[in-house]
Amino acid sequence: MSIFDRVIVGLMPLIPKPIVGFFSRRYIAGVHLEDAIAEARRLNACGCMVTMDLLGEHIKVKEESFAARDTYLEILDAIEKNGIDGNVSIKPTQFGLTFGTDLAYENIRAVVERAKEYGNFVRIDMEDSSTTDATLEVYGRLRKDFDNVGVVLQACLRRTLDDAARLAEMGANIRLCKGIYVEPYAISWRDREIIRRSYVYILEMLLRKGSYVGIATHDELLVWEAMRIVHDLGLDPSCYEFQMLLGVSERLREVIVSEGHRLRVYVPYGKDWYAYSTRRLKENPSLAGTIALDILGLSPDRRRR
Ligand SMILES: Cc1cc2nc3c(=O)[nH]c(=O)nc-3n(C[C@H](O)[C@H](O)[C@H](O)COP(=O)(O)OP(=O)(O)OC[C@H]3O[C@@H](n4cnc5c(N)ncnc54)[C@H](O)[C@@H]3O)c2cc1C
Repeated sequence: MSIFDRVIVGLMPLIPKPIVGFFSRRYIAGVHLEDAIAEARRLNACGCMVTMDLLGEHIKVKEESFAARDTYLEILDAIEKNGIDGNVSIKPTQFGLTFGTDLAYENIRAVVERAKEYGNFVRIDMEDSSTTDATLEVYGRLRKDFDNVGVVLQACLRRTLDDAARLAEMGANIRLCKGIYVEPYAISWRDREIIRRSYVYILEMLLRKGSYVGIATHDELLVWEAMRIVHDLGLDPSCYEFQMLLGVSERLREVIVSEGHRLRVYVPYGKDWYAYSTRRLKENPSLAGTIALDILGLSPDRRRR
């Protein structure tokens, strides 16, 4: 973490909420489901698929997990009703994982069942490493009965090589990302170049073994590596998709779509936008510098625009 990142995170509590809101607008679709549907329509019109995310995680009482489940059922209904080309992404702790895997399993199962009725799909996001085993356990249980559910693996974790090999044998649908949480050195790679190499190695293994992969990155080098791998393997674009966060690397997004690859944009929305924005920055302060540079028009990503 640079001094610049520390300064930005330190200043966060002093920045009035409306100003944080103003700058978050690019990354968050809005407060209401209608806002997310409107954003999804705009993205669909640009040739992008979406995955919708209700902001919120680490609930305090079990009842909140039922509310999250019910809202996700509404999101799936709205996607169907509005003819959106999109699915949903859920956070296991928002579905009660910290109260036990059974609670999360039952809640997520209800959403996967509804998605199945619509021919839709549910992605289980991966949170910090304290939840990895439980998340993969819930995913494994669901996978026994459903094929319309996928999970996420983080290239920064040392365990991911083994997890990926095992999940590929199950024919799992996997989103591969670098991993946003700052994890202990004992279990995670820290060096940016090593994480990139880990990403490429795991991506190639998954695609070779026939897994459908959501290639979630804005790192141009990794996008190039992914294009190289799908070219080498002669894969049809239906075997994988690129994935990006709302408001990030829009120019690169356009390039990927224009070259005939499928691309899905992660569309977060909800009333928890402020807690979400500030928590993310505290968890991973190096993002603060990236976003600040981006807002000032100085990030490498901006210069590509
Ligand atoms: C669709 C999607 C789903 C994800 N799901 C998960 C998940 O379930 N679990 C998890 O741990 N992580 C998840 N992530 C986050 C991921 O792990 C990385 O932290 C994040 O994508 C940044 O890594 P990068 O590969 O884009 O490379 P980086 O090197 O971090 O970023 C490359 C460039 O992209 C731009 N950039 C990247 N992120 C941002 C940002 N937030 N705001 C502004 N600019 C940015 C910057 O210009 C940066 O230089 C997800 C990411 C995506 C795209």
